[in-house]
Amino acid sequence: MTGNLLDLAPKAAAAAIAALVEGQGWPRYRATQILRRLWVAPIARWDDATELPGAIRRLLGAEYPLARLAVARREVSSDGTVKTLWRLDDGEAIESVWIPSGQRRTLCISSQAGCALGCRFCATGRMGFRRDLTAAEIALQVRELVLDDPARKPTNVVFMGMGEPLLNWPSVDVALSILNDPDGFGIGARHITVSTVGILPGMAALRARPEQFRLAISLHAADDVTRLELMPIEKKYHLAEVLAAAKTFGRRVTFEYVMIAGKNDGDRDADRLARLARPLGAHLNLLPLHPGGAPGLSPSSPSRIRAFAERLRAAGIEAVVRRSRGLDINAACGQLYVESEAKRRPARATPAG
Ligand code: SF4
Repeated sequence: MTGNLLDLAPKAAAAAIAALVEGQGWPRYRATQILRRLWVAPIARWDDATELPGAIRRLLGAEYPLARLAVARREVSSDGTVKTLWRLDDGEAIESVWIPSGQRRTLCISSQAGCALGCRFCATGRMGFRRDLTAAEIALQVRELVLDDPARKPTNVVFMGMGEPLLNWPSVDVALSILNDPDGFGIGARHITVSTVGILPGMAALRARPEQFRLAISLHAADDVTRLELMPIEKKYHLAEVLAAAKTFGRRVTFEYVMIAGKNDGDRDADRLARLARPLGAHLNLLPLHPGGAPGLSPSSPSRIRAFAERLRAAGIEAVVRRSRGLDINAACGQLYVESEAKRRPARATPAG
């Protein structure tokens, strides 16, 4: 048997390794040593697992090579944010953003190369869809950081990079296990957030998982007309249905809301938003639109954002204004890709979404 052990949830990988160890007649404890090297104490290549005899390392190297992501470009912001553009084996590229803040190290990861959904304010949306990532490609965004420096291991992971994670549920499902399982990265489920525009079947699948993974909904508008203007997905999954599904989630939900001048940042929008958030006990993340990230749209002014947040708080809604991190390095989702790849080849039209 050959294969990519990094593409399996830790329990499935443990079973595959146990079968291999038994089949080869190796001592049983070798299975634990091998499993540890996938995620808990990762290595770049099997040769580096010096606790294993050379014959085992050679067989693993030949039959179960450890996949890697290549760094295509890396930018470090003056505020400590690190943005990486990864090159995949087939030449596609994805991004992740590492955001340190006190004791917290948040990694924003991608779940697809490109995105089918074409939200107007999003650089990834303008690339079009290229393909789904495998579970390994999602989890390798964390693994590569840990290989580089174990102190970089994130405390929090958010699926807010390229792509819509709930349109790639089979891979995201496995990647969530890799992130959370003690034989994976062991990151607590409450520290792992899946952000969606509101893909209803995917929301049901996430809700069916027993772990307390967090859900964030990219709302960006408090009424369906504005939402349709900003997010074409509104045609398929309506705001009211998405909110109804969020209500059945049974866990606290966060709304993500990009503040766009004259589009969704008025007092009336704040009042509507408060009415939507209250029955869900939803927490609001207000994000300034990344300047230059969206043609034809401009960020709300800082004073407008403050007033908007105040109005929400006065209505009893917990609202946090997120700092726009990495302003000097194009850290908004998809921007580094668009800048460095768009000229390389045009994105193809997408069948998904
Ligand atoms: S905001 Fe998310 S769902 Fe919308 S186009 Fe960008 S990556 Fe896709």
